[in-house]
Amino acid sequence: MKWNKCILLCAVLLSVVLTGCAAETTMSQSTENSAPAGSAAEPVKTEQTDVTETDTFIPQGDKYIALTFDDGPTGNEDGCTERLLDGLKERNAHATFFLCGYRMKDFNSMMERYLTEGHEIGNHTTDHIRLDIDTADGGLEQISSNQEHIAAYTGEAPTLMRPVGGAYNDAVLASMKQLGLPVILWNVDTLDWKYHDDADIVRQRIIDNAADGVIVLEHDLYEATVDGVLAAIDELQQQGYAFVTVSELAQLKGVTLEPGKVYTGFTSKDVVVDHGSNFS
Ligand SMILES: [Zn+2]
Repeated sequence: MKWNKCILLCAVLLSVVLTGCAAETTMSQSTENSAPAGSAAEPVKTEQTDVTETDTFIPQGDKYIALTFDDGPTGNEDGCTERLLDGLKERNAHATFFLCGYRMKDFNSMMERYLTEGHEIGNHTTDHIRLDIDTADGGLEQISSNQEHIAAYTGEAPTLMRPVGGAYNDAVLASMKQLGLPVILWNVDTLDWKYHDDADIVRQRIIDNAADGVIVLEHDLYEATVDGVLAAIDELQQQGYAFVTVSELAQLKGVTLEPGKVYTGFTSKDVVVDHGSNFS
């Protein structure tokens, strides 16, 4: 009996010890499990932070303007385009950049910034040539090859294009329809291609022609353009304007952009602006 009691007691003690160990193991596993769960939560948080950092919100205002910049990118880290992107970011302003394929070979440090900072990229041909007179296929090759150049850097092909010099004919429109691209011109020309050392002309022409729904032409080729545009944004934001991409402006105005069709702006019919050139 004594032995039996002893064995029974030992068995009970062993069982208590084992249960205790098991409980500890479970707790320990559960603690370990919660640790990885905690670390797993961090990447999720990081991911959410990244999503927040990608600027997908349309800037809000009483009136809207689409600033557009042709012929870039220009320079790398300390260049014109990067400085412009910095200035737009500081001001929560979006813009549309009509890029040339040949420029991206030399200047590509900013390629990831455009889309993550809420801007839009448009197609401005691979070699910056006139589609109406210098191509035999209505620009098919120039535009489709540049779609590929841009997508190789950004992962996305543009959904709109601007012909060089704003010049097009029926063959160009047919080609753009085939490629699924609306043709975007402008109704305010800053004339920075002509007065490219004078920031004040750029600033003044934007201020003078500011109206809800305008598309403004600039080139991120000149430092004066960057200075003039940023100064104009500061002034016009005080007047209730917000700066959006061409596609955002179309959306805000209830316009569906159609391939092969030409758009110069989304102003109401009574607005008269000085577009400054005959799109040439
Ligand atoms: Zn151009």
